[in-house]
Amino acid sequence: KSHPEWLTVEHYLSDTLLKPDAALEQAVADAAAAGMPAIEVAPTAGKFLMLLARISGARRVLEIGTLAGYSSIWLARGLPEDGTVLSCEFVAKHAEVARRNIDRAGVGEKVEIRLGPALDTLASLTGQFDLIFIDADKGNNVNYLSRALELSHSGTVIVVDNVIWEGLFLDPEAQGDELAIRQTLEFLGSSEQLEATAIQTASSKGWDGFAVAVVK
Ligand code: SAM
Repeated sequence: KSHPEWLTVEHYLSDTLLKPDAALEQAVADAAAAGMPAIEVAPTAGKFLMLLARISGARRVLEIGTLAGYSSIWLARGLPEDGTVLSCEFVAKHAEVARRNIDRAGVGEKVEIRLGPALDTLASLTGQFDLIFIDADKGNNVNYLSRALELSHSGTVIVVDNVIWEGLFLDPEAQGDELAIRQTLEFLGSSEQLEATAIQTASSKGWDGFAVAVVK
């Protein structure tokens, strides 16, 4: 559900605060043409990710859930010259479309897409990331967060998308993804290693929100 006024405000914000961007618009169009779901972050949220990368001074970014590379492009744009984004995706077609979109946006050298189940990719990674964006299968969020903590340093920023989803997680009978969202929020709130909050959003993507955490 999305309230019409949310959309009007969202379009106003995008038009007023964001510059027209052919590469990002083409990325969304190519995803639609390839029959992919329009579940990329909203433009205002994409820019938020770019700003967060810049504000935190991130150089090494981990993204879980590439889709068509829309958020990867925003993240890459927030990085210094030698910054990198490692993005996990398990649908080959998504990774192919993303590769083209990311290259066309001029950030191809910064972004590596690892094809395969994200938990396998995460298990193979070493070192520490400065910013981690979790936006894939919600049922694995707690697994992703646990592994993310092992790949973090004090000050690593962790963002988890879709932690509100119309508040359906409040239903005591919630199951599946809704239950996973509640467990994600509980993990974030109870982890001794994290300081976290969540922000509700009303946007072109309806009533939703994201969590932001920093590793202590
Ligand atoms: N972050 C993207 C953006 O904003 O442009 C959107 C990502 S979309 C919400 C989620 C993506 O995660 C999909 O492309 C899906 O195929 C992928 N995905 C889901 N489960 C996965 C898994 N277990 N391993 C790797 N990728 C997965």
